[in-house]
Amino acid sequence: MIIIGAGLAGLTAARELRHKGRRVLLLEARDRIGGRTWTDTWRGQQIERGGTWVDQRQPHIWRELHRYRIPIMADTGSARAILPTVNGFQEYDPGEAYARQAELFTPFFDGSQQIFPRPYEPLYREGLVRRFDGLSLRDRLDQLNYPPEDEIRLTSTTALFGGSSQRGALTMLQQWWELAGGTFDDFHGLNTYRPATGTASLARALLADAAPTLLLNSPVASVVQRGGRVQVVTRAGRRFTAPEVIVAIPVNVWRTVEFDPPLPGAHQLASTQGIGVPHEKKLWLDLEQPADTFIAEAPEGYPICIMGRLNEGQHVVAFSVEETFNVNHRSQVDAAVQAVIPNARLAAYTATDWYADEFALGVGAFRQPFQLTTLHRAIQRPHGRVRFAGGDIADGWSGYMDGAIESGLRVAGSPTLSRPFVPPSTGAIAVPAVNRKTYRSLWQL
Ligand SMILES: Cc1cc2nc3c(=O)[nH]c(=O)nc-3n(C[C@H](O)[C@H](O)[C@H](O)COP(=O)(O)OP(=O)(O)OC[C@H]3O[C@@H](n4cnc5c(N)ncnc54)[C@H](O)[C@@H]3O)c2cc1C
Repeated sequence: MIIIGAGLAGLTAARELRHKGRRVLLLEARDRIGGRTWTDTWRGQQIERGGTWVDQRQPHIWRELHRYRIPIMADTGSARAILPTVNGFQEYDPGEAYARQAELFTPFFDGSQQIFPRPYEPLYREGLVRRFDGLSLRDRLDQLNYPPEDEIRLTSTTALFGGSSQRGALTMLQQWWELAGGTFDDFHGLNTYRPATGTASLARALLADAAPTLLLNSPVASVVQRGGRVQVVTRAGRRFTAPEVIVAIPVNVWRTVEFDPPLPGAHQLASTQGIGVPHEKKLWLDLEQPADTFIAEAPEGYPICIMGRLNEGQHVVAFSVEETFNVNHRSQVDAAVQAVIPNARLAAYTATDWYADEFALGVGAFRQPFQLTTLHRAIQRPHGRVRFAGGDIADGWSGYMDGAIESGLRVAGSPTLSRPFVPPSTGAIAVPAVNRKTYRSLWQL
């Protein structure tokens, strides 16, 4: 079996197949494994350039962290919340600020429980889902007709998650809301934990367990099915054949690989439209001022929509979904930070533009209107002897590491998928207590 892509989905599939006695050749384009997770070191600190946060309510990643005894740490949260108002930014106590956010956001999700009564089966009530799947997050904001002073506090979230409020589908956020538990506190407190040794430690553990033949620096150029075999050719012209292939690269990247016979229409459309959020950049800022823990949100249209220092002494993490924000220009980054915190002093920064990365072409999944009802099922289906995996096409926590693992389990036909996760009674990893009220749920932070 050949697997293309050594992100968490490809690694999980490789591990499962090995446990079934299959031999796996894993072809990875980059010089590292992990894909859209990437633990790095910058100015003396461990940073995550991609996926970071995990949660007990994400059963597949939680199971894997337990399986490999990867320690979990909790962020301490922030002492201040800086939020937009119609008259500029204002500082709040996080508990108070987010109590108001709860009042504002809860009606946004009215009806979600009926639409997604089984959130791991997103099309369980397909007829009902169809009635809402054409709506964008912007449409929902418009329906609720918030006064400007209220709406301005919500668009940081809708823009960040959807790529823009206009781009993101309401049904995607409704599904996440229900997966989290269906209340603001559930959703808001999601993802306050992260692997203490970095997400890379999970990727390494999976790789060691899978023990595939791994070829790094091997971007695949074409996948050709002929006479009951599949031939995979790398850009460097190396050829490999196998009876079956698993394509575990981002949906946004499918269009850069030549498939013969060509991919079915739904796969082509999904890749052209994109499922991974485009234009997203993640920055780490060494901010001399402010030096305390804080979280700052900006309304849609600001170059940085959210940033925060979540632990004392830790660098500040920031996100942008603005197409025109060029993180390669220091002056733009300075201006972006100061647009939210005028007296901020930036010593240095590092940024990852995931859209500019040809092997990602975006960040995690956030579907667009109509994609769930018109494409989701179709793009999970195999194309002859070629199967597909990835966090972008997961049923549950699509857009998260959990979804990548779910999809890796599914494509490999793993029985684990249907088993509920029960933490071991002995040897379970310790889960530190957190005060969720002080958190801003930072999915993509
Ligand atoms: C900035 C950012 C923040 C995020 N934050 C979170 C978070 O806090 N929590 C969370 O749970 N999730 C988060 N996510 C999402 C999560 O990281 C992804 O959903 C998940 O890692 C996707 O895994 P995957 O295996 O499906 O895809 P990927 O990780 O993208 O793996 C695909 C692999 O395929 C390789 N590849 C691509 N093209 C080719 C080719 N032609 N030939 C060979 N190989 C190829 C890539 O190099 C890559 O290694 C975040 C993602 C990003 C980018």
